[in-house]
Amino acid sequence: MMALIVQKYGGTSVGSVERIKNVARRVARWKHAGHQLVVVVSAMSGETNRLIALAKEIQPHPLARELDVVMATGEQVSIALVAMALSALGVKAKSYTGAQVKILTDSVFTKARIMNVEEKNIRRDLADGYVIVVAGFQGMDGAGNITTLGRGGSDTTGVALAAALNAEECQIYTDVDGVYTTDPRIVPEARRLQTITFEEMLEMASLGSKVLQIRSVEFAGRYGVKLRVLSSFEEEGEGTLITLEEDRKMEQATISGIAFNRDEAKITVLGVPDRPGIAYQILGPIGDANIDVDMIVQNVGHDGMTDFSFTVHRNDYHKALEVLKPVKQHTKAREIIGGDNIAKVSLVGVGMRSHAGIASSAFRALAEEGINIQMISTSEIKVSIVIDEKYTELAVRVLHKAFNLDQAA
Ligand code: ADP
Ligand code: ASP
Ligand code: MG
Repeated sequence: MMALIVQKYGGTSVGSVERIKNVARRVARWKHAGHQLVVVVSAMSGETNRLIALAKEIQPHPLARELDVVMATGEQVSIALVAMALSALGVKAKSYTGAQVKILTDSVFTKARIMNVEEKNIRRDLADGYVIVVAGFQGMDGAGNITTLGRGGSDTTGVALAAALNAEECQIYTDVDGVYTTDPRIVPEARRLQTITFEEMLEMASLGSKVLQIRSVEFAGRYGVKLRVLSSFEEEGEGTLITLEEDRKMEQATISGIAFNRDEAKITVLGVPDRPGIAYQILGPIGDANIDVDMIVQNVGHDGMTDFSFTVHRNDYHKALEVLKPVKQHTKAREIIGGDNIAKVSLVGVGMRSHAGIASSAFRALAEEGINIQMISTSEIKVSIVIDEKYTELAVRVLHKAFNLDQAA
């Protein structure tokens, strides 16, 4: 049965000439099986970081428009090399940059959003028997400027093409053979999940699991794209399918996965008057400065005073402290303290019924290792805990075991 398939290959998967040839062999097999193929590729591993470092040597805070022009070159190299490797195997292939496809984005350089994908040229070339090789991570705004989609954005290119072309499936080939209960680099006992729901994958991605860019998951959920994560190094394997429905065949695990990130910093405003409006007085200026706030905790006051803590992205930490200087004055806060040495560890699962139960099991497991909990927040399908960064890996391992996620030995 002939189908249109979108395959996306990440940086490690195209990281060397040998690996590019390997990608071409896989694509050729699918092509020979009678399918139409659109292949999205990332820059060779390390290349995007190298390009950013280069730009920063010239200008510590590079002009965003020019940075996008620089960063987009990484993927442009990959598409041509993959097209050549296909051609060397006798497979007709044609490379396309994002602008050549006309992947139209907004104008927010370095984190642009895809607004439209033109399919006309791709459809024509597919009909003519070509494999189409598209540069991930990049697009073009209405004025013709080159844009990029944020780190990890090639995933989103893949899903957007799959949605626009109504592809049978979007296959994300990477250096692990699926989505695991947690990052298998941190916990060797992590298990591959056969399926994970969009809802859970969204949480995992937004809480720090970088296996899929969060926008790719949003996009796939919204447009009903069948999304699968697979290994580019293995010939066989089902990988992990991102599903709409919770798969009832799966054991009724309360927790599906554990995510973590070290991207946040914590700020505490000590000794402010415990009265209505105080949260607004503190967080209003933070919001006005375009700083996103994640977790917020206001302690129970005593003697009419209270403490107020929240987390921001680490990149915004110093800016947030600056913004709070005048706030300290007019709220008469005793002191503002903070640190960027925290980590957020999150338990995710649609099967989590009682947060109290999950949270208390988690606290016991952490307490047994002497790990102090600084902040907690919950939503329907997650419990997040902020701890000292130096305990991140230990905490993830301990929780992974406590919730029976370890692979059966
Ligand atoms: P690519 O270059 O192919 O896009 P990424 O490095 O972006 O690959 O994503 C794959 C990596 O994601 C893996 O090597 C793994 O270390 C990491 N990862 C983090 N959390 C998970 C998870 N829950 N399951 C699988 N991989 C994960
Ligand atoms: N090359 C880009 C990055 O490193 C995009 C991607 O790999 O998905 O972020
Ligand atoms: Mg990636």
